[in-house]
Amino acid sequence: MYLATCSQCKTKFRARTRTKLLEIMRMHLWKYHRAWMIKRIKAGRAKTGGNPPVVGLLRDLATGDFIPGYKKYKRDTYEALKPALDILVKHLPPPVQTSWKVVDKMADLIFKK
Ligand SMILES: [Zn+2]
Repeated sequence: MYLATCSQCKTKFRARTRTKLLEIMRMHLWKYHRAWMIKRIKAGRAKTGGNPPVVGLLRDLATGDFIPGYKKYKRDTYEALKPALDILVKHLPPPVQTSWKVVDKMADLIFKK
């Protein structure tokens, strides 16, 4: 059993897998601490010296040049982008959606600690 505590409100979470735990945490954070999440994403952005422009990002997704861990898509950048992409993706053309799914799977493997 994996356990975690919300750093913001001290709510406790438990899950059978680490992935599930992270998923629950992410949902909780977006639901109850949205402002804090946005602040954190902005801080991450500042730290990595600015996000790749969205247009460039979408083009990279469409052409398959979005490779997690490669060049501008290091862990910090990727983690800052992911929440936005997760929301945005259902409004994107199907090929880009597919591309994002692949990227997301790759990132899970590449950035796994
Ligand atoms: Zn909380």
